[in-house]
Amino acid sequence: MTRARILSGREVAEAVYGELRKRLQALPFVPSLRVIRLGENPASVSYVRLKERRARELGLRSQVEAYPEDYPEEALLERIGVLNRDEGVDGILVQLPLPPHIRVERVLEAISPQKDVDGFHPVNVGRLWSGGEGLFPCTPLGVVRLLRHYGVDLRGKEVVVLGRSNIVGKPLAALLLREDATPTLAHSKTASLPEVVRRAEVLVVAVGRPHLVRKEWVRPGAVVVDVGVNRVGERLLGDVHPEVAEVASALTPVPGGVGPMTVAMLMANTVKAALLRRHGPPR
Ligand code: NAP
Repeated sequence: MTRARILSGREVAEAVYGELRKRLQALPFVPSLRVIRLGENPASVSYVRLKERRARELGLRSQVEAYPEDYPEEALLERIGVLNRDEGVDGILVQLPLPPHIRVERVLEAISPQKDVDGFHPVNVGRLWSGGEGLFPCTPLGVVRLLRHYGVDLRGKEVVVLGRSNIVGKPLAALLLREDATPTLAHSKTASLPEVVRRAEVLVVAVGRPHLVRKEWVRPGAVVVDVGVNRVGERLLGDVHPEVAEVASALTPVPGGVGPMTVAMLMANTVKAALLRRHGPPR
């Protein structure tokens, strides 16, 4: 039995960092990233630490602002306003999830679209869907970049995205359209889900349910991207069952697949934001 080729996100992330280093050497300034975190959610603390470490390794200026769990919404909005006006700040990221007293839409809409390195501002969402230039969400960008690196041609392909969140599924569908793929968005209310998933030549799974996708759901020879990160005891499990490697032609691992790509694309977005703000979109 042949087993799926493993598509390493770590390897592709290194390639992205190599390209970024070259671009940074040619710039007359150092792009800067500001990350805001509220509370001590252990996953958020560790993600923010990782982002800061990567930014520094790459030679970006990076600073984290940590506030208490009960930090008021108005104070947060005011702080974002100050960073929006600060010429020395290129990218602003507010780590999600936020505590329940904070309205996440208000926060995301307060970040200047020019500095919105997570790509969640409605202006950037609109630009993504309308085909314009802007800052787009890191995880979907990472998925597309990873597939491109391994020579997976998306043009004309039937791609099923399982999960329709604003962070992964929906923006990924928009990017896939831009790649001339034919995306289907499936979710918890999709009828005959295994049949829909089985149509995929390329399958991307982002549901947050450990090992939900079984081998019977996967079309033989499909390329499978597992976005899921589920902490189960001490282990990190994907949304795709490991048995899928018996039928897929290629599969991303968890960890070491999409995760490193997300961080790499955040760094790429920070550099892009710095350039777009200074020079505008390319003509
Ligand atoms: P989310 O906001 O909870 O969305 C989950 C999506 O999956 C929803 O659209 C939901 O459908 C669908 N879903 C849930 N259970 C389902 C089921 N049994 N059958 C079919 N669809 C189902 O999650 P998210 O933020 O997109 O994240 C998804 C996963 O990706 C999580 O494990 C998360 O940790 C991971 N993630 C990883 C990275 C990374 O960098 N590697 C980045 C972001 C997220 P409804 O809309 O109908 O509820």
